[in-house]
Amino acid sequence: MSNNHQSSEPLLPNIKELTRNQLADLMADMGEPRFRAAQLHRWLYGMQARDFETMSSISMALRTRLAVDWAIRSASVVRSESEDGGTVACNQSPTSKYLISLPDGEFVESVLIPSEERMTACISAQVGCPLGCTFCATGQMGFRRNLFAFEMTDQVYAMHEDALKRYGRGLTNIVFMGMGEPLLNLDNVFEAIGTMTEKNYGFSISEKRISISTVGLVPGIQRLTDSGLRIKLALSLHSADQQKRELLMPVAKNYSLDELSSAISAYNRKTGQPVTLVYMMLKGINDSVEDGRKLARFAKRLSCKINLIDYNPIVNFKFKPAYSDSKNAFVRQLLDAGLHVTVRKSQGAAINAACGQLATLSGNDGSKPQ
Ligand code: SF4
Repeated sequence: MSNNHQSSEPLLPNIKELTRNQLADLMADMGEPRFRAAQLHRWLYGMQARDFETMSSISMALRTRLAVDWAIRSASVVRSESEDGGTVACNQSPTSKYLISLPDGEFVESVLIPSEERMTACISAQVGCPLGCTFCATGQMGFRRNLFAFEMTDQVYAMHEDALKRYGRGLTNIVFMGMGEPLLNLDNVFEAIGTMTEKNYGFSISEKRISISTVGLVPGIQRLTDSGLRIKLALSLHSADQQKRELLMPVAKNYSLDELSSAISAYNRKTGQPVTLVYMMLKGINDSVEDGRKLARFAKRLSCKINLIDYNPIVNFKFKPAYSDSKNAFVRQLLDAGLHVTVRKSQGAAINAACGQLATLSGNDGSKPQ
């Protein structure tokens, strides 16, 4: 069912746009004790209530007053697509992509990645992205807006429910690696993480199983470090050469590799956690011996592991994946330097759900979502 409002009547404000603190202020303004805010929050997120009427632990008088001034609108799945075409073979775990409709008519995409040990939800933090990385389909959409916290948690709940239905097991991990740069929407990302890690909300996930991916926004990394959260950090490095980084990710012009390295070191020290350096291998761009040498020098100063990933081709994009020969030599070079390296098999490319391929407004094939 679509959340889009078709009538010309003015919409009531959506109570899910309020943060937990704003809910507490609302309850105080309505002369209610603050614990009502926790009850309301639990109904909205733990129980996924779609209307005030069902909130049986809240007095009828308050439910009626809330329904006069507020509506409950959620993000919801309008379409899903699986690598296996929708049928689940018993010993296969196909990646699934979900088109999510937001209450204002915008769309984002989310991806469910099952494996033997994990069930990972990859979620979006923005509609589009303002950073325009040259290899990324989302970056070419331009920027529409930040997601509210509920629009991120609703993605998670939708995939959790679908995973339970399809595989009989729920989510184990959440990665903010879908559309958008999460560090540009940190207030809402923190709010969403607060809900995702809340105990007894249908499913609860520990901070240690949540990862945020960034292209390297130093102020955001510093804020994350200082937040006290123990979530994991992945840095999309893609090159340890300043000029090449700027070519791939124009925002890299704002931060030198030294600044980036200092911010990551501080994260290492304060959280006690390694960072994952994500390096997408692009033929003729960042796959030479010299590129490997620079990457090794950058990585050796940090507590990190390196995750080499294949480039997933996108229609009309000029980049190509590195040849396996150069990839193997690159891996050998990093291992010889004593670094921890994993080569990740790309998942979801068949349905444009792999890294860098998510886009909705002018999709990978130029089409709009139907
Ligand atoms: S790679 Fe990430 S930060 Fe860069 S344009 Fe794509 S979504 Fe934005």
